[in-house]
Amino acid sequence: MAKKVYDTVVIGGGIYGASCAYFLKNKDNSVLLIEKNKIGSSGATSYSRGITRVYDPVPSLSRLSYTSLQYFLNWDKHNLPGKSPYSSSGFVYLMDKKHAEKAASFSQEMGNSDYPITVLESKAIAQKYPWIKNTVNKIAIYEHLGGYGNPTQTAINFANGFKEKKGEVYENCCVQAIKQISDQLWDIVLPHDTVQCKSIVLTVGAYTKKILPTLPIFTRSISLTQLVDHTKAINISLIDETIETYIRPNAGGSFYAGSQVFEIQDTPDLLNESNSNEVVDAMTRLNDLIQKKTAHQAFNAMKGYDSYTEEKAPIVQFIKNQPGLYVAAGFSGRGYKCCIAIAKEISTQVHAYLNSQTVENKLKWRYKL
Ligand SMILES: Cc1cc2nc3c(=O)[nH]c(=O)nc-3n(C[C@H](O)[C@H](O)[C@H](O)COP(=O)(O)OP(=O)(O)OC[C@H]3O[C@@H](n4cnc5c(N)ncnc54)[C@H](O)[C@@H]3O)c2cc1C
Repeated sequence: MAKKVYDTVVIGGGIYGASCAYFLKNKDNSVLLIEKNKIGSSGATSYSRGITRVYDPVPSLSRLSYTSLQYFLNWDKHNLPGKSPYSSSGFVYLMDKKHAEKAASFSQEMGNSDYPITVLESKAIAQKYPWIKNTVNKIAIYEHLGGYGNPTQTAINFANGFKEKKGEVYENCCVQAIKQISDQLWDIVLPHDTVQCKSIVLTVGAYTKKILPTLPIFTRSISLTQLVDHTKAINISLIDETIETYIRPNAGGSFYAGSQVFEIQDTPDLLNESNSNEVVDAMTRLNDLIQKKTAHQAFNAMKGYDSYTEEKAPIVQFIKNQPGLYVAAGFSGRGYKCCIAIAKEISTQVHAYLNSQTVENKLKWRYKL
């Protein structure tokens, strides 16, 4: 019997692989999704706490996040699979007051009745969030409906939706290599077989170098310290640009805090397991951010990682001279908040390729190879 040739094999079942597979299947393509562990349970997606906001110093990323947030906030209306994985805790971005003009023009440009954004002056921040230690000379962009999602659950939802549409999934299956057979055919080498396809969407995140060693993508660790919040006051996602830290609330009286200590390697297997320097750094920054009387105490820390590029923007494109090979990786610690907008755009481009059409890559937030 002749071997089945899939329109697309999506390699990697993190948030990008699962959502790309779902949107490609919606366009009636035959798609196989292959994940080396369980969907959403390894890679950056499994560590990520999914802070979701529109403001970002990079305007093209703000616009992608805004589009994605409309899907997160109106999950059922858009007929997305499963229950919404999103919590609107509110989001605050603290910055030096010398950026007041920038904050005002951002809130005017991006804020509206569907997504209200308010600029808070120093006094208003102190009144609203008395646990913040020092608001002098600071202003805040307050996104009323910002918050956080559950990245693992988001990937599982998309993979389940994909399966419901008869998409095929191989879990616990590690792709060993990809081989171009002709202009229109690829072999995907599995531990005990090969499968064939016309196009590949490679979404293996920080493992990209194992499959395509020459791409300028590397692994960077991202550590999170988990703290108990005895006062239960910390209930919003927050980034403080001046202290260079962030916090993300967690249901059940704990929250996460970020650090600026990180390690760089080719692939995640090479990362050092220890993260004590990261915890010290997170606590030092946190002590500058929140009042002492807001009793907080570290009880856990985890060292995750994401795929990065030098420019901290992803590679999201077909690879030159390798027809049908699309790479989406290098989301540099910011891939969750914009994932739906980007996955939809990827599916449009790959679907057009399968139908011998060319469409412009409209993604502005990307590293151009
Ligand atoms: C601690 C942490 C906090 C973060 N916080 C935020 C945040 O607040 N907001 C935000 O927007 N973003 C955040 N991010 C970033 C965001 O979560 C990532 O950019 C995003 O999850 C990347 O998804 P991905 O699908 O590209 O990669 P991954 O999630 O890494 O998925 C890659 C998948 O490929 C699989 N795979 C690898 N090799 C193979 C193979 N050979 N065969 C088959 N499968 C393979 C892996 O098992 C994995 O499941 C954070 C990331 C981390 C680590």
